[in-house]
Amino acid sequence: MVEDNPNQKELEKMAVFCNKYNHIFLYKNDYIQRMIAKYMKMASLKIDGYISDNNESVNDELQIISFDKLKMEYKKSKVGIIVSSGKDEDVLQLKKYGFKHIFVVDEWNRRTIPYKMTPRSKENFWVEVNLADHCNLNCQCCDHFSPIAEPTFLNFDQYVKDLKRLSDLTDNKIGLIKLQGGEPLLNTKLIDYIRVTREIFPNAFICVFTAGLLLKKWGNDENNNLWKAVKDYEIEIRWTHYPIPLKFDEIRKTVENYGIEWWETPPPFEKGARVWFFSEIGALQYKGEKHSVKHPFWTNGGVAPFRWISCYQFNESIVLRDGRIYTCPMIPYVHFFNEYFKCNLEVKEEDSIDIYKVESYEEIAEFCTRRVSFCSYCAVHHRYSRPWKQSEHTIEEWTENPPFFGDSLNTFVLFWGDKATLLKLGIESLKNNGIKETWLKTKKVIFK
Ligand code: SF4
Ligand code: SF4
Repeated sequence: MVEDNPNQKELEKMAVFCNKYNHIFLYKNDYIQRMIAKYMKMASLKIDGYISDNNESVNDELQIISFDKLKMEYKKSKVGIIVSSGKDEDVLQLKKYGFKHIFVVDEWNRRTIPYKMTPRSKENFWVEVNLADHCNLNCQCCDHFSPIAEPTFLNFDQYVKDLKRLSDLTDNKIGLIKLQGGEPLLNTKLIDYIRVTREIFPNAFICVFTAGLLLKKWGNDENNNLWKAVKDYEIEIRWTHYPIPLKFDEIRKTVENYGIEWWETPPPFEKGARVWFFSEIGALQYKGEKHSVKHPFWTNGGVAPFRWISCYQFNESIVLRDGRIYTCPMIPYVHFFNEYFKCNLEVKEEDSIDIYKVESYEEIAEFCTRRVSFCSYCAVHHRYSRPWKQSEHTIEEWTENPPFFGDSLNTFVLFWGDKATLLKLGIESLKNNGIKETWLKTKKVIFK
């Protein structure tokens, strides 16, 4: 959900703060601080340890230092302290001790950073699979690359084997299994996939995502009827409402004739036979026209490591494919992008985890909280939504050019040069990239 993602601007401020001081400590060492430290280490932000009188080890190799020791061993002017307790009195106390450089983590990131860093319980583990990688709708910017994917179906036997392995690892307790694509209704074995998923996970919440173009056809098929399968196996159909001409009312009538519930508001999050007709999965109350979200890559990488945690797919849209788990759909399906545009966004073995090599479910859940090297291609801070339309198969739908100076922390960067060079680089270009000030020799220039 959008509300679960850390605020990018606040993360930028924290990164700038960490860059300014020789030593960075987190105030206290409770669960929130430990999760923020975990994030900071993965984000390559400077972090020396925790300030606490409680010496209890937190097993993350960071030192725990008392106030008195900190005062004795470090020069106060070189220490930055991050406070995430949400208590004004903690800031006052630090100031009383003479520490001036304090960064307060705001309420939003105090909640969302630990949320994203916490491994999911089995009951809250969501996994998605593409039954077909290609699609019959062809939306611009599709984050599964379906418009440019070669027609490909999930290997059935491999899927059954993988589900059994996950069932063993999770004591059969996965919370949610999403059958999707591409367009899963293009897979003629759809009902077999639904059946085995239910047989292996009798209690899981299972849903099928569709754009709906083939619902009428599947509903009219006497021998292979989707609505019968929905009832028999207690499946939710998640039908995304695209601005395309479909006989919505006619299909709704068929659904209701089968005695299947019809929902246009978020239904209960549990096993059940129903159809949920919605506009945006990431904004549940939204009822307007569907949008497309552009998720631009920087094809040469270079996105600063602290940014990835704001990605809404990270530790949320967890993908199972051919015996491996991925933290998002971009990584397993990027080969379609590479093949179509002749690019080489590198997927490394460590960007996913082999479910046959792990010893426990916990290893998978922990892996899903990690930043992987592929994240350096994702400019999560430049994602935005635009009105939905079909894809023209241009690389622009999936990429953007990074700023010429790379992923700097916009507010302070800079360029140190003469007027002629600055004009050549283009003040407008600097401004467009969020630069607010620069230096001409020794003179500071602030862009208006
Ligand atoms: S976003 Fe569009 S093209 Fe991509 S899978 Fe969904 S319906 Fe198909
Ligand atoms: S590669 Fe990283 S940043 Fe990109 S979508 Fe996946 S998890 Fe998100």
